[in-house]
Amino acid sequence: MSREKIIVIDFGGQYNQLVARRVRECGVYCEIYSYKTDIEQIKAMEPMGIILTGGPNSCYEEGAPSCSRKLFEMGIPVLGLCYGAQLMTHVLGGRVCKAPVREYGKIEVTVDQSSKLFSNVSEKTICWMSHNDYIEQTAPGFRITAHTPDCPAAAAEWEEQRLYAIQFHPEVLHTQEGSKMLHNFVYQVCGCSGDWRMDFFVENSIRAIREKVGTGKVLCALSGGVDSSVAAVMLAKAVGDQLTCVFVDHGLLRKNEGDEVEEVFGPNGPYNLHFIRVNAQQRFYEKLKGVEEPEQKRKIIGEEFIRVFEEEAKKIGAVDFLVQGTIYPDVVESGLGGESAVIKSHHNVGGLPDYVDFKEIIEPLRDLFKDEVRRAGLELGIPEKLVYRQPFPGPGLGIRIVGEVTPEKVRMVQDADAIYREEIAKAGLDKQIGQYFAALTNMRSVGVMGDERTYDYAVALRAVNTIDFMTAEAAEIPWEVLGRTANRIVNEVKHVNRVLYDCTGKPPATIEFE
Ligand code: GLN
Repeated sequence: MSREKIIVIDFGGQYNQLVARRVRECGVYCEIYSYKTDIEQIKAMEPMGIILTGGPNSCYEEGAPSCSRKLFEMGIPVLGLCYGAQLMTHVLGGRVCKAPVREYGKIEVTVDQSSKLFSNVSEKTICWMSHNDYIEQTAPGFRITAHTPDCPAAAAEWEEQRLYAIQFHPEVLHTQEGSKMLHNFVYQVCGCSGDWRMDFFVENSIRAIREKVGTGKVLCALSGGVDSSVAAVMLAKAVGDQLTCVFVDHGLLRKNEGDEVEEVFGPNGPYNLHFIRVNAQQRFYEKLKGVEEPEQKRKIIGEEFIRVFEEEAKKIGAVDFLVQGTIYPDVVESGLGGESAVIKSHHNVGGLPDYVDFKEIIEPLRDLFKDEVRRAGLELGIPEKLVYRQPFPGPGLGIRIVGEVTPEKVRMVQDADAIYREEIAKAGLDKQIGQYFAALTNMRSVGVMGDERTYDYAVALRAVNTIDFMTAEAAEIPWEVLGRTANRIVNEVKHVNRVLYDCTGKPPATIEFE
């Protein structure tokens, strides 16, 4: 499948995935590679343009991540951002050193509107700065195209060679006209036409899967989450009943969730596939009995999941393909793409491939960011309710119940969570808040109900806003919404007599409780 491609070269900055996302939002496909990637390999990918990211190092120090001069001599346009801009300057013979004044935060930049990069950008525009070093002297051939009071070369370019250096971060939303600048680079400098469209992607993927699978048998582990659902529907559209989806209900799902998944994928749903629901609730509760330690709970749930799936897979027998809902951030974070360290080694379905008899893996969403998976889902006609489902951890409610998990506690947290979600939706906040859920603390305290003493559990409500799920802040939910929710929970959920609101951010807390 040929499509226009921009390559992001990663120097270890914080916003590198954002760069790729912003480019894709412009309608051009983009991938991230480590700065260690061989230059011939980059050339072979025939990118329309290259973007060098920011990074924590100082490019003039020994051992700092670097790149070859040849990168700038291939005739491919290059845009350097922050560290990338400094490195470009350094490698091409300019001078970078520690800045007399470090800039951090939103800063007004004056740009030269005659630059292609800044066409249609306001002359004075707010940009996000985050640097200690600066370009003291631009490289030969370059002219300065932007400045701030403390940064004489906030942007520089060599138009004929199509080389552009900017000190600030256009990929961050704080840079008010950043998307426009990236758009200008991609279209006006690189000459892209914008062929990264979800309808094309979906259509092409279905065709490619059909060719690859032929008459083979395909197996998919369906969790009901967005990624595995979108992957399953794509496969169903491509190969119909050659696909078998196994859905393990581990009894740690949100209220009614198992039935909702069955409604969509089961025999009464719109898709022509084999659907197997395994009701393994009791098995999981049995294994979790008496276990309090979060990591141990996670391990037990993960392992039991594999056991159950393995048993089902044995009944089905050998298959040709196993489907996984891996998405692009998983690929980058597994250290295969960018420069970031291995953060998550697990895929959606931890360790499954080792236990299933199959020939090849199909990962139809491997190239997509989360928001793109959602758009693909809508394109495929999957119900919005499912497509916009909130992130839900693999171990499910098992880690939203602090301490030992029991069926009774699962019921409490399910009911409380359902009430909370209902009230948030009623208040019209469901699309505004990033993620929200109820958890069950392990704390019991004294209360009074109907003149009688109670000694019951406390539910904690959590709601956070986050752009990237790496950091988050507690959402400010109107008091009346919280009050109404608390009231309903203590009234309607047996054995809960107290409701707390978690106002901690991440860091220092995490979004989930365990
Ligand atoms: N480390 C470099 C500096 O301090 C680049 C910073 C960055 O890329 N954000 O200037």
